[in-house]
Amino acid sequence: MKCSRCKKLACVALPSHNAGFCPECFPLFFTRQVETAIRREKMFTLDERILVALSGGKDSLALMLELKLQGYNVTGLHIDLGIPDSSWKARKKVEDFCEKNELQLQVFEMEKWGLPICDVKEFVDRPVCAVCGKLKRHIFNKVALEGGYDALATGHNLDDEVARLFANTLRWDTAYLSDQGPVLPASGGFVRKVKPLFRLSEFETANYAFLKGIEIHSDPCPYSSGASFTNHKQLWGELEYRSPGQKFQFYNGFLQRGKQAFAALEKEIGADVKPCEECGSPTSVGRCSICRIKESVATKKAAAQAGK
Ligand SMILES: [Zn+2]
Ligand SMILES: [Zn+2]
Repeated sequence: MKCSRCKKLACVALPSHNAGFCPECFPLFFTRQVETAIRREKMFTLDERILVALSGGKDSLALMLELKLQGYNVTGLHIDLGIPDSSWKARKKVEDFCEKNELQLQVFEMEKWGLPICDVKEFVDRPVCAVCGKLKRHIFNKVALEGGYDALATGHNLDDEVARLFANTLRWDTAYLSDQGPVLPASGGFVRKVKPLFRLSEFETANYAFLKGIEIHSDPCPYSSGASFTNHKQLWGELEYRSPGQKFQFYNGFLQRGKQAFAALEKEIGADVKPCEECGSPTSVGRCSICRIKESVATKKAAAQAGK
């Protein structure tokens, strides 16, 4: 196969775009996709300050590098989860990456905040991944607001978005279907959230990270039984193989025609959001779930230590 741009030997075949690219031209394709996403969805401008969530995985690091190369004002935010023998490795990868590429980085330590994920695993009676995800979203938002950032960018790719949309659709979860998308505008205590990689597949992001020589953290989380939405992603892999472009059509069709309908419905039946009595974060109950988790872990931990 020949490169669609320069006619040299292609190394990445992209059936959904009816194209293939050589190692020099593929990053240009990637850049164009990110530019289109930012422009069409009006994500942010060159004057704004963007906080980029960096887990250390290929998507977040690829996003950070690409935004910096496009001239955006970016700062990385890494959350050190406080999982023994694991979190420091991810943190090291992120720190090294930022140093090498002269990127600003902020590290939030859950241990210092009083709630390392190892305590969540030990003292919270719910699946640790769900609680961890909730805590991370809370912290991203909190740090972005406190730091006066204009937007929070995450490395969610097309496969992540399609798998989530599919899961929400299988449950007809109208609350989630009403506000899933590549841009969530700022509102009542929430910073604007953007996903500049939503037009790119996991395969494409992985190729970009590889061709740019990014060293990624790829160890699975020791507390997770497997990547989230794995089955749905496999199913979609099959659909995409049979009819290339299906994933993007499904997601884009939802954005064009589905989302507004759910948003209108949710406006009528959705819960009101108010600031949490304790921490001020938006919540539909008096004290937010984060404050309740923190208190419950502190109580159980104290009891466990007293019992020793
Ligand atoms: Zn080429
Ligand atoms: Zn709270």
